[in-house]
Amino acid sequence: MSACVFCRIVAGQIPSTRVYEDDLVLAFMDIGQVNPGHVLVAVKPHVDNVYALDDAAAAAVARATARVARAIRAAFQPAGLSVYQANGAAAGQTVFHYHVHLVPRHDGDGMAFTWPVKNPPREVLEAHAAQIRAQLG
Ligand SMILES: [Zn+2]
Repeated sequence: MSACVFCRIVAGQIPSTRVYEDDLVLAFMDIGQVNPGHVLVAVKPHVDNVYALDDAAAAAVARATARVARAIRAAFQPAGLSVYQANGAAAGQTVFHYHVHLVPRHDGDGMAFTWPVKNPPREVLEAHAAQIRAQLG
């Protein structure tokens, strides 16, 4: 079994609330819910960071990130959306499997990004994921 938590999520060894999936990308909600509607877009093969991302995977992540961002906007109508990717421990990366965070922001939200973040119950995550999936068409 892989020691990488994201590889285990991709493999289905850890249950996850999935928002979007294709051959190269999995978008899910289970880790670090900063705000409701927060989605992580992870490349499926294990890739440590952006430096190791090949062009096909980079394109797939960018496409999924844009699609899911539009769906989050439609579902939650946030004032804004923060897109994070940390690369290297010094830059704040704590899970060394390439991923992007999409965090809806509402007026008055702080910009602090603490890790780990306590998650709402799975049924709440599933309800939020269903709202986003409905907008993905
Ligand atoms: Zn991994």
